[in-house]
Amino acid sequence: VVEWQSNLRSHRGRLVSGPGSGPGTQVHAASYLRERRIVLDRALLAHHNELARILTHEMFHFVWLRLGNPLRLSWQKLLHSEMQSRARGELGWSAELRKDKLDPTRLDLRTRSWRDYACESFCDTAARLYSGSRNHPEFTLAQRFVAARREWFADLVRYREGGLRI
Ligand SMILES: [Zn+2]
Repeated sequence: VVEWQSNLRSHRGRLVSGPGSGPGTQVHAASYLRERRIVLDRALLAHHNELARILTHEMFHFVWLRLGNPLRLSWQKLLHSEMQSRARGELGWSAELRKDKLDPTRLDLRTRSWRDYACESFCDTAARLYSGSRNHPEFTLAQRFVAARREWFADLVRYREGGLRI
């Protein structure tokens, strides 16, 4: 289910909406994986490029959930090798905020913060590749790393015979 709400905010780990300048941090969207529900901010309706980017990101949270451990690990290895090459930047704020909190000299792939980063990076990369947006202020990862991620996704789609389950 995709739902629209106005003035979407995140407050103490919960999603709130409604008029006025209530408490919480403004967010564009949220996904509830078990309920199979995506909530989008109504303001996105006036910004089609941003809507496509954010909806693609949210849909790939469902893809990530069903990807399976071997493919999730393969993605994490790609990110790990990027970090060893000192890649800076990301393909969206969601991933970038989490990347900034990691210590590249002491990466532990079993930590919650690493797994959160891997997931957000996967969704932001999918949004970069599939939403039609080529340029965006949040796309700060160098082209050669973007190219490697594009290859990884192309392999994934080939491996899954053109279809990704959501
Ligand atoms: Zn996300």
